[in-house]
Amino acid sequence: MSAIRLHYRDVATVEHVTAAQETVTRHPDTIALVHRGHYRNAALVCPCGCGDVLVLNLDRNVDTTFWNLRLHESRLTLMPSVWRRDSCGAHFVLEENRVWWYGAQADTLETLPSNVERTLRAWWRRFRRKKR
Ligand SMILES: [Zn+2]
Repeated sequence: MSAIRLHYRDVATVEHVTAAQETVTRHPDTIALVHRGHYRNAALVCPCGCGDVLVLNLDRNVDTTFWNLRLHESRLTLMPSVWRRDSCGAHFVLEENRVWWYGAQADTLETLPSNVERTLRAWWRRFRRKKR
């Protein structure tokens, strides 16, 4: 079990999910985006240290569960939060490659700053309006 991650260093773009999984397995400090015509998935090694590779859906046409992405100068923001209720329990927000953790999982962790929480709340309000 490795240490809890507080940020990712790099964002890579590849064409297929298998390539994304390989990229992050080799470079755990990198997040890999799958782009074929448009963004389809994000792959990252779980920041909790459990070692799992997460593959998140970014394509709203594939699944109603999707993450919104913002990419700015190799800094990635994903909204809403990632909550792995059924496995390691990691619950975090990725904002400009930084990992903001929910709850006090360890005393070295920072709690969600108010500006990130405001962004997250605004995102949820927009998301709920779109769904109706
Ligand atoms: Zn984990």
